[in-house]
Amino acid sequence: MSNEKSTRREFIKTGLFLGAGALLPGGLTLTNMIQSKNSDDRRIIIIGAGLAGLACAYDLWQAGFNIILLEARSRPGGRVRTYRDSFADGLYAEMGAEYVDSEDHYVKKYAKEFGLSILKAKLYDGVYVRGKKFRMKDLQNLRHQLPYADIEGSNLFGQEKKYINHYVEKIRTWSKQNSISSFSLHDSSGQKKIKNSININNLPQDILDLDNLSIADLLRKEGAHKDIIELYTFTSATESTGRPGTLSALSMVLDHFMAGGFNEETDEGRIHGGNDQLPKAFAKSLADKILYRRPVKKIEYDNSGVEVSFLENGTLTSVKGDKCAIAMPVSILRRTKISPAFAPDKMHCIREQSYGHVMKIAMQFKRRFWDEPGSLGQRVFTDTPLRRVYHHSIDQPGPRGILLSFTSGADAEKLGRMNDLRRMKVAKSTCREIWQEAPRYWEDGVSKYWNEDPWMRASYSMVGVGQKDFREILSRKEGLFHFAGEHTSIHRSSMNGAIESGLRVSREIQRDN
Ligand SMILES: Cc1cc2nc3c(=O)[nH]c(=O)nc-3n(C[C@H](O)[C@H](O)[C@H](O)COP(=O)(O)OP(=O)(O)OC[C@H]3O[C@@H](n4cnc5c(N)ncnc54)[C@H](O)[C@@H]3O)c2cc1C
Repeated sequence: MSNEKSTRREFIKTGLFLGAGALLPGGLTLTNMIQSKNSDDRRIIIIGAGLAGLACAYDLWQAGFNIILLEARSRPGGRVRTYRDSFADGLYAEMGAEYVDSEDHYVKKYAKEFGLSILKAKLYDGVYVRGKKFRMKDLQNLRHQLPYADIEGSNLFGQEKKYINHYVEKIRTWSKQNSISSFSLHDSSGQKKIKNSININNLPQDILDLDNLSIADLLRKEGAHKDIIELYTFTSATESTGRPGTLSALSMVLDHFMAGGFNEETDEGRIHGGNDQLPKAFAKSLADKILYRRPVKKIEYDNSGVEVSFLENGTLTSVKGDKCAIAMPVSILRRTKISPAFAPDKMHCIREQSYGHVMKIAMQFKRRFWDEPGSLGQRVFTDTPLRRVYHHSIDQPGPRGILLSFTSGADAEKLGRMNDLRRMKVAKSTCREIWQEAPRYWEDGVSKYWNEDPWMRASYSMVGVGQKDFREILSRKEGLFHFAGEHTSIHRSSMNGAIESGLRVSREIQRDN
């Protein structure tokens, strides 16, 4: 089950979906209602009901704006996707966004507002790489060492640092000379103050030039053993869903400078009972302001306003507005007709923004053998086709349980070319390598490959080689258009970033009015 078909929890059930022609008070149909108003009613059209579009719509709606939100799917949340109907005993699994980090200010703020709590996730118990199993505590006590050349200490993440430290030090010295006490990028939503925000482009030229190299190129140039690059593939590159050969070396150096990178000790949580509760709570407040199953096909504008055309029951329909907030991924925007085109640099970034590949597989087992004595444990870091495998159902009663895998980069592409049956075969046999007893308790599995999702076709944005300026260009307002989405946020590729970007756009629109 690699798509939304069999597990879709129909949004109709919640009463939030109003199909085309549904009757509203006064006998108007939704379509009539939209078309009966013209653009002078100061309508703001928002495209995409992921967290970015929802947060934007919610903030504008609270400020009293006339909004309409167009969404291609029959549910809110986009890449926040909780599968609930695929498993026995009320088990569920996050097939999209999962973790809320301790720094995720906006997710926490709205979770609190909607009465949702955050459940603490568990850390890694084991490592299975190059065919060898290691318990995390044995690595941490230095009783064993990872089987990679040239590594120091026991950390999985950050082994590349010694090769790029001189760049990190150079930025540190430069920051001191320029009286920048804390280096942080500007949080543009206006809700969270960050001191001493700096413009990346003010960094010394030789640092900026790193953007023209890939991470693999830089590590090779600095003399790193190929094992270091391979390990990076399974650590940070897996998190960003890319490959060391396609990611910008500048982003790796900045990550180390800010020490904000992910590591095996990162404190993570997720929304108790399922992350989809967050977008659903936004959507419930917005109610009939959201029109589902309305894929946008064309965006047109002139001095007087914008016109957005979308499919409604297979017929092209349009709505006019004063302004438009585009909160759909650029992987889809690049397939949408825009007339006249936006500025050339914006169009270039829309076309070229890099995204990765990602697949999740949720596996249901009769028994939670990973908790039993002698097992490698409940969360394992691997270099197998499953990459990360972990017990997901920690907040749900047993005896059944779900192991979830997170595969990205080349392995996700490879799994993505297989049919569901083959994916499950690979999943089952990989689990057997990690936990010998796994096949005995295996019941079933489902997969979600985001690169085959029709409204995403990718994982999340990443800084590709030569793309250091893309985020700024993509987030820049252009005439009557504003741009939200994780790809426009300094907290890119996260739920937090999506919300931040939506709030930024809401503030831009409110400022302009
Ligand atoms: C597998 C996976 C794991 C992840 N893990 C994490 C994690 O652990 N923690 C975390 O914080 N983040 C994680 N993320 C990232 C997070 O999901 C995203 O950053 C965030 O949800 C993006 O929100 P968005 O609103 O920008 O985009 P989306 O959620 O993609 O929303 C865009 C919306 O636009 C709609 N749309 C697209 N095309 C059209 C069209 N033509 N017309 C109308 N509507 C359209 C889509 O249907 C969608 O609803 C993960 C993502 C994936 C895929």
